[in-house]
Amino acid sequence: MTGFLQVLFETLRRAVDRLVDPLRADDDLENFRLSIPETHTTTIEGDTGWSTRPPAQVRCRQCDSEIRQSDPHDVIDCPRCLAEFPPEEFPKLELLYLECPVCRTRMEHGQRHPDRLDVPEWATCHGCRYHWEFKHSF
Ligand SMILES: [Zn+2]
Ligand SMILES: [Zn+2]
Repeated sequence: MTGFLQVLFETLRRAVDRLVDPLRADDDLENFRLSIPETHTTTIEGDTGWSTRPPAQVRCRQCDSEIRQSDPHDVIDCPRCLAEFPPEEFPKLELLYLECPVCRTRMEHGQRHPDRLDVPEWATCHGCRYHWEFKHSF
């Protein structure tokens, strides 16, 4: 009887393993993807999240000078006319380009949801292949 139960148990376990394994693999992949925005390392592969946005060059609304905002949480202050814009005003300023944090090349940037967001959602460097992605929770 014990032998029979063992065989039954083994059979069930193998069947369950077969059912669960593919799901488990997906789970891991999903967890992996979700964990990406939390990592703030600058690697050649790229970054995600607004806090790791590459340095930006925007145009001053008052005097048309170029203003560099290296950190997305910095105040945007014009070096020429001393105008100051809080970081929340970034979407209202004209974005000239983003600068690759690895090799300082001007990056190509674009949007995936232009109707819902007025900030760049991705930027890619043609110099070193660094890629930044603004992952959001839509
Ligand atoms: Zn200015
Ligand atoms: Zn680069």
